[in-house]
Amino acid sequence: MICVKCGLIKTGKNGDFECDDCREFSPIIQEVYKIIDSTITNSDVIDPDTERILQLMADCTFVTANNPQTAIFYKICELIIQKAYAQEYEITEQELNKSVRTTRSWGDVFKLFQDLGLITVRIEDFQRIITLTDKTKKLAQQFGTTSSFNEQVVVRLAHIYAGYILLHIINEMSYLQEDTDVPLPYGIKPKTLWNVLMFILENAYRGQQTFSEEEFTKFVSKRRIPSTTRGDIIRSLQTMSGRTTQDLIKEVIIADNQISFKLEDYVMVEMKRVRDTRSRDR
Ligand SMILES: [Zn+2]
Repeated sequence: MICVKCGLIKTGKNGDFECDDCREFSPIIQEVYKIIDSTITNSDVIDPDTERILQLMADCTFVTANNPQTAIFYKICELIIQKAYAQEYEITEQELNKSVRTTRSWGDVFKLFQDLGLITVRIEDFQRIITLTDKTKKLAQQFGTTSSFNEQVVVRLAHIYAGYILLHIINEMSYLQEDTDVPLPYGIKPKTLWNVLMFILENAYRGQQTFSEEEFTKFVSKRRIPSTTRGDIIRSLQTMSGRTTQDLIKEVIIADNQISFKLEDYVMVEMKRVRDTRSRDR
C-alpha cells in the first residue's frame, strides 16, 4: 500500500492509505494555511518581519525551489513580483512565454492564481493578458516602491508570493483521500515539498529544534525521494545567508561524523503558536 499523500510504502493489501505522519500533519498544515491566507487577504501590511509565519513559509518552500514540480510556480511568481514592483500591472501571454520556459500550458496556473484573487485574465488580440489585482499589488509594494530596482527586495517578495501559492497547493493536497482525481494544478502532487514541510514543521511543532541529516534522509527515503533531490535539499539547508536564501537553519552542527541542523528560534515560536491555536480551538 502507498500513502496517498507522501508516498510511504506499507506492506499489506493493495490500495491507498494515509500514514500516521500525514494524518498528524494534515490538520497542522491546514491551520498554517488558514493563518497565512487570512494575513495576506485581510491585513493592510504584509510584513514578514512582524508576521514571521510568512517568512517561515517562504523559507520552507524555497528549499524545493529548483524541484521541477514546483519550479514553474517559482518562475511565474518572480515575474509577477518583478512587474508589480516596477508598477507595471499587465503581462501579455507573449511576455510570459518569453520569461518562463515550460512545456506546460498556462491554464492550470492561471486558474490557481485567479482562484486566489491574485490576477485576472482577459483575451485581447488573440492572446491572453494577465492583470495583477490589488492583492498582488499590496504584497509587491510591501517595502515601498522606489525608482531604483532592488533585487534583494524583489527576491524576498517573490519567495513569500511563491510560498503562498505553494502552500495553497499543499493545503489542497492535505484533503486528498484517494489517489484518483487529484484536483491540483497539472494533476501533480508536489510530493517532495510535502515531505520537506512535513519533516521540518512536525519537528518544530513537537518542540524539537535539532534534527540530524540521517533522520531527514531516513524520513524521505522511506517515501522514495531520490538521493539527488535529497542532496539538493540538504545543500540548501546548509546555505544560511538569510534574506536571499532560506532563513530556517540557525546552526549546522558537525559532531562525530554526523551533520545536524538546528532550526531558527522563530520557526519554533511560530509552530508553537500554531499548536497553541489548535489546542485553544479544540
Ligand atoms: Zn503519508
